[in-house]
Amino acid sequence: MDIGKCKLCLKEKELLKQSHIIPKFMYKEIYENNSMVYFEPSTDYSKIIQTGYFDKNILCKDCDGSVIGKLEDYVSRFFYGGRLDISLKKFVKKGKLDVICAENVDYKKIKLFLLSLIWRASISNNKFFSEVKIGATYEEIMRKFIIENEVVSDNFCPCVIISYREHEHLKKMTRQPAQVKFNFSSKTGYVFFIAGVKYIFKITKKENDSIFLNFTLNSDNNRFLMIQANEKLREDFITDNFINI
Ligand SMILES: [Zn+2]
Repeated sequence: MDIGKCKLCLKEKELLKQSHIIPKFMYKEIYENNSMVYFEPSTDYSKIIQTGYFDKNILCKDCDGSVIGKLEDYVSRFFYGGRLDISLKKFVKKGKLDVICAENVDYKKIKLFLLSLIWRASISNNKFFSEVKIGATYEEIMRKFIIENEVVSDNFCPCVIISYREHEHLKKMTRQPAQVKFNFSSKTGYVFFIAGVKYIFKITKKENDSIFLNFTLNSDNNRFLMIQANEKLREDFITDNFINI
């Protein structure tokens, strides 16, 4: 192992050869079912399928396994089952969107997990994440939030999540994260599309667009919302409504 400065705790430590930028559980069934999956752009398909997207010499074992690992553990059980006291509800909002709502979630952990995803992508040198550059200021704010295990406000870098997992071909798709601009706003955002789930982050210290905030993780009532794409919802719904690419 190489000794170097861990990008999360900033201590001189042994650094891991592999730290996942997109955790494996997010496309877990691909590994389990060995089914066909499409990564775009697909540079080295067989290699990616074995290892996922990782970077080397960025995190120490404690930060990767304990700090980020704890967040990943909770979120993976949240998405894929486990003994969590969460009630899942599905309802239709405004006749157009199916929204999955989970209550009693651990707001703090999910929020920090989502921030850790975009933070890892931003600090990574893996070229798959080359478009994700949130800048030194945001990287440092997020680093402190994650290492200090803070409760982060829901209007800091909110993330809207849309699931396309009921669409068979999209369920197997992971795309290169892309930078986007939002309609009526100078803010930058990033779109991740991982195994049929789209994560739209807005980079802002204090979001006040109620439309965006209505569909994001909510700290008041520990509600987690995910838009379920039905057959009427086109893949570019969010593009039409929030983003001007
Ligand atoms: Zn560390």
